[in-house]
Amino acid sequence: MEVKIKQFLNKKELTFLKKYGTKKETPFLLINLDKIERNYDNLKKNIPYAKIFYAVKSNPEKEILQTLANKESNFDIATTFELDMILSLNISPKKISYGNTIKKEKDIAYAFSKGVRLFATDSLNDLKKISLHAPGAKVFFRILCDGNGADWPLSKKFGADPDIIFNLAIKAKSLGLIPYGLSFHVGSQQRKINQWNNAITQCKYLFDSLKNKNIKLKMINIGGGFPSDYIQPTKNLKTYSKEITKFLKNNFGNNFPEIIIEPGRSIVGDSGIIITEIVLISEKSKINNYKWLYLDIGKFGGLIETIDEAIKYPLFPEKQDKKKQEYIIAGPTCDSYDILYENYKYKLNKNLKEKDKIYILTTGAYTASYSSICFNGIPPLKVYCVKNFIVQPNNL
Ligand SMILES: *Cc1c(COP(=O)(O)O)cnc(C)c1O
Repeated sequence: MEVKIKQFLNKKELTFLKKYGTKKETPFLLINLDKIERNYDNLKKNIPYAKIFYAVKSNPEKEILQTLANKESNFDIATTFELDMILSLNISPKKISYGNTIKKEKDIAYAFSKGVRLFATDSLNDLKKISLHAPGAKVFFRILCDGNGADWPLSKKFGADPDIIFNLAIKAKSLGLIPYGLSFHVGSQQRKINQWNNAITQCKYLFDSLKNKNIKLKMINIGGGFPSDYIQPTKNLKTYSKEITKFLKNNFGNNFPEIIIEPGRSIVGDSGIIITEIVLISEKSKINNYKWLYLDIGKFGGLIETIDEAIKYPLFPEKQDKKKQEYIIAGPTCDSYDILYENYKYKLNKNLKEKDKIYILTTGAYTASYSSICFNGIPPLKVYCVKNFIVQPNNL
């Protein structure tokens, strides 16, 4: 599939990159805060009935959190560390949900002491811990999804089958908690929109069966999974929202429960560009028609989502050229696992040279927060935030 840089970046953005891509030591991640605002607005516009809880793990950069806070976003956190990051920005604990189903008792107690009153759960033991350390809190129950159709599935690890959830909701009430709603995550970068239908149908079943037990659930958290722009295109957000709204209507008529979304990738993914430099180009055998391209960033520098080549980032040399050649692309570290793309062969300029810059697009999500702290002595990925591709003082 031939993709062109012009499909992803406009002239202004390209000019900016050319000019400022050389200002800092590579590799670094450049975040356009303006794009994040637009992505947020776009989600709001397309799913107006949903409350947005930004999934902090996708990129916890302070300026990103502040930008979203200014937009009145809510935040989904997974640990007390993320909680502290949010609270340090003077964001109300009322805007926070503790979305991780795997929690220590002391972490629940800490969150509760800071004012968090909304917790996710999917097991009896976690529920008991919540009842002890966050008495009277609202809990929502996560349904298991198989993640089928997603580039980055979150399958199996989280959630439980509806019959288990049914019993948990009853138990929650008897433990003095408020069984408030249900949640699911269909898998990140989910391409099969119908996966929301499967999950929403299960939610409807649980809403009805629990009503018979005098438990009135009020909320559905339809998770993340909304797409960002990688090499293989997805349907646009409008199509996602139209379909999902239809699924909700089919099940709940015009009386939707409170709907929450927890976007990560679709908010920050395409706001980020990693600027990297070619360290080495080599050939290993005369019979191969491809070369090896080693960059100054790899799996350990933040590109972990290239595991099994799951996420295929749009990747372009700074200078474009018509003559192309296939490359295997790898990182700089002394670990053989540090190969980014081997099966999927990127076609890049035939005349690429060492020290040339490569842009790795759509790298705003799940990169900086994944980068290792000192493997081979390499420091964590540096992040610079700009607004609308206009340089801010002391920034870049
Ligand atoms: C990671 C995560 C998200 C974000 O998912 P995206 O696909 O990046 O939008 C949302 N909710 C929960 C519970 C998560 O763990």
